[in-house]
Amino acid sequence: MNDDTGRGFPVPDGADNSTVSETAAGAILTIDLGAIRENYRRLKARLAGVRCAGVLKADGYGLGAAQVASALIREGCDIFFVALLSEGIALRKALGPGHDIFVLNGLPPGSESEALAAGLHPVINSIAQLGAWREAARAAGRKLPAAVQVDSGMSRLGMPPADVEALGTDAFDGIDIRFVMSHLACADEPRNPANEQQWLAFERLRKALPAAPASLANSSGIFLGPLYHYDLARPGAALYGINPTPGETNPMLPVVRLQAKVAQTRSVEEGAGIGYGHTYHSRGPLRLATISLGYADGWHRRAASAAWFEGVRLPFVGRVSMDSIILDISALPAGRLGEGDLVELIGQSQSLDDAAAHAGTIGYEILTSLGARFHRRYIGA
Ligand SMILES: *Cc1c(COP(=O)(O)O)cnc(C)c1O
Repeated sequence: MNDDTGRGFPVPDGADNSTVSETAAGAILTIDLGAIRENYRRLKARLAGVRCAGVLKADGYGLGAAQVASALIREGCDIFFVALLSEGIALRKALGPGHDIFVLNGLPPGSESEALAAGLHPVINSIAQLGAWREAARAAGRKLPAAVQVDSGMSRLGMPPADVEALGTDAFDGIDIRFVMSHLACADEPRNPANEQQWLAFERLRKALPAAPASLANSSGIFLGPLYHYDLARPGAALYGINPTPGETNPMLPVVRLQAKVAQTRSVEEGAGIGYGHTYHSRGPLRLATISLGYADGWHRRAASAAWFEGVRLPFVGRVSMDSIILDISALPAGRLGEGDLVELIGQSQSLDDAAAHAGTIGYEILTSLGARFHRRYIGA
């Protein structure tokens, strides 16, 4: 198998927790855990002594929550956030006891004992969730940790200001408030006045609650400056190499490389109809390669794009299929690319953020869409 499209990319060191073998897979996703660790160190350096959690929702933004957590633990990270109780249970199973895991979306009613059994901490988003956790603490006969989320202006999750201000003094009986937190809607737009408005609202709401450490910043929030750092930052995207400062040079290291295998090559004459709907007709003789990656792997059908081989851009022609994409490889010498060779879709030739821009979306969506059919290769462990 020919694999020299990304000169300079770290060499695999054999760490591999993938369930799909490299020979059986149509595409290979290489995840650089060393780069994730370096990104964590870079964020820590910006935070200058403030604690830094790792956000691992959606299976670590599609890269493997357990593997990412293990890498972050080696950097001293001991606080993790997932979105769902189900994710928390899976992560606890993988990590064993000892690290704090918070469930951002709160606990579904009736699931408190399940969360407790798994040693998970809820992010309390409503008065009802607060009551249920207070009751769980009473039943357990001890104080139970939790984070309390307030809505400072995103209108998504967290207690509305009116509810926060109406809370009685006994509302938190039995609850060990580890963090009062909120989430920024526009942190990736540093000049957006919504950031300061949310900061002011967060300050006001914090004062209506028992004194506790505070947490506001996601990845981009860290780059808004120390005012937004409080006692704990909660980055996700930046750890995975997504640019937390859109429009400026990415201060993070790239983490993922995506390569797809060539399934077949062919030559066609002028006028050949290519792919579903014949949306493309060759305007001359063409050489084509079909790769084993398609929209079922998260490469969106509307995403006009290209793959690269030895630095040569190979444009998509025709529609993206479910399991395959056709490339125009006429720019390469005849016979240079063959069945089983790997072409690159994300990596040195095209960054994750560039691939996302071509697809009319953001890096977050690309990462979390990337398919279960890939062979996942972990390097830098
Ligand atoms: C997803 C999420 C984060 C992490 O955000 P990034 O932009 O990926 O850094 C932090 N806090 C909350 C509440 C989130 O939902």
